[in-house]
Amino acid sequence: MRFVPHTIRHEPHSGATFEAFCTTSGCHGTSGPEPAQDTAQDWCLRHTGRTGHDLFRRVVTDHARVTRDE
Ligand SMILES: [Zn+2]
Repeated sequence: MRFVPHTIRHEPHSGATFEAFCTTSGCHGTSGPEPAQDTAQDWCLRHTGRTGHDLFRRVVTDHARVTRDE
């Protein structure tokens, strides 16, 4: 098998998702995957206002493309 060099790069045109999960024990609240960071953050603010839960785990996913080096 021949080694073929490739490069991996962030692919901005495919978008990203932002999601927040409440970390309070027994609460399974989540913003769900959102295309905008502001939407996920707004969900946290509303969740804290409604429940008093104030710590969230945040997850951001992006896309990466692998291309063969010439
Ligand atoms: Zn909660």
